[in-house]
Amino acid sequence: MPSFRLSPAVQSLKPSATLAAAAKAKELKSQGIDVLDFTVGEPDFVTPAHICEAATAAMKAGHTHYTASGGIAELKQAVCAAYERDYGLKYSPNQVLISNGAKHSIHNVLAALCGPGDEVIIPTPYWVSYSALVELTGATPVLVETSEASGFCLSPEELKAHVTPNTRLIMLNNPSNPTGAVYPLDKLEALVRACVEADILILSDEIYEKLLYGGAAFRSVASFGPDVLERTITVSGVSKAYAMTGWRIGWTIGPAAVIKAMDNLQSQETSNPCSISQYAAVVALNGPQESVEEMRKAFEERRNYVVGRLKDFREKFGVTFAEPGGAFYGFFNIAGFFGKTLPGGKSVDNSSDFCTTLLERAHVALVTGDAFGAPGYVRLSFACGMDQLRAGLDAIEKFLSAAR
Ligand code: PMP
Ligand code: GLU
Repeated sequence: MPSFRLSPAVQSLKPSATLAAAAKAKELKSQGIDVLDFTVGEPDFVTPAHICEAATAAMKAGHTHYTASGGIAELKQAVCAAYERDYGLKYSPNQVLISNGAKHSIHNVLAALCGPGDEVIIPTPYWVSYSALVELTGATPVLVETSEASGFCLSPEELKAHVTPNTRLIMLNNPSNPTGAVYPLDKLEALVRACVEADILILSDEIYEKLLYGGAAFRSVASFGPDVLERTITVSGVSKAYAMTGWRIGWTIGPAAVIKAMDNLQSQETSNPCSISQYAAVVALNGPQESVEEMRKAFEERRNYVVGRLKDFREKFGVTFAEPGGAFYGFFNIAGFFGKTLPGGKSVDNSSDFCTTLLERAHVALVTGDAFGAPGYVRLSFACGMDQLRAGLDAIEKFLSAAR
């Protein structure tokens, strides 16, 4: 019998909890159970027609071959033009790398910059893949807790308390998955100033940049001044704003030397991102932007509905939450239900078991806060239709009402 002893890096690697929760919900659905699925965070909208047409045109034009490993020049230029138009940031194409989705971009950044002995600061709650991707490089994730009371924003003091001579970079995600938190601009500026003072690099994941609600303001971290720009690596992509999760296009923008190193890595690992998707992404960025606002408005309506229901749950059941200013997640604390008898007669003492019981008894699928380093919380993605949201929140309310 040959030995398939796994490498140390992969041995301890857990599967993505968001994708695992979505798979579990799908499995139940395939058994004929009518599951209301709020697990995975991806727009329910179909990619706008003009972007799909660009993909068809690209295929017809013969763009069906390998491209340059780091992406086609047209897309790099479109990314540069978008950052100048949206944030007044002037980048050149050699500062841009196109990858297979923003998750791949994050992996590339960490693989290029971090290794054993390095520490990476991750404010919690954090997006599920952050710590796993840091660990893959051999570096150590340093999880720094933020609170609901602070709107899940990290203060400069909290940052400084965790910086050591080994700190390499901080991973910031604004607007945030899973909390929906958007840093007020003064708090964001204070935090990035503290990063400059501490002389650490910033990986700024801005994938939800276009999904803002209730007047929340966004600023790209690199725009806070030349001293911030020179230490910031920005990651974003087309998945969320253009409803293009399946197309797998993300990008990294940063100092040319780091981008070059990441391009070398990508050329060995995956060659290039999908040629057809790249041509479609050019049209997403350069073409009409009305659909971005239309989808944002629809998300805002859902967000307002979810916030209204959560406020009601707060009054009725003592559930707590911070109102999301961006992204598409409701993130709320159900720890008050630990120790109570839930429908089905079970009592639970953690969010993961709470989610399992909710799925079994109410057929509602949420993601446990444990996956985001936030015990006691659960995440509900509102990237779904209003009918599903109403039915799901009704079912959650019924479930919570029946707890004793
Ligand atoms: N960062 C965050 C915070 C996300 O929520 C996601 C969504 N999965 C990603 C990055 C990755 O997005 P993509 O689909 O482009 O890989
Ligand atoms: N970002 C989404 C989520 O958190 C997509 C799933 C994933 O890539 O993990 O649900």
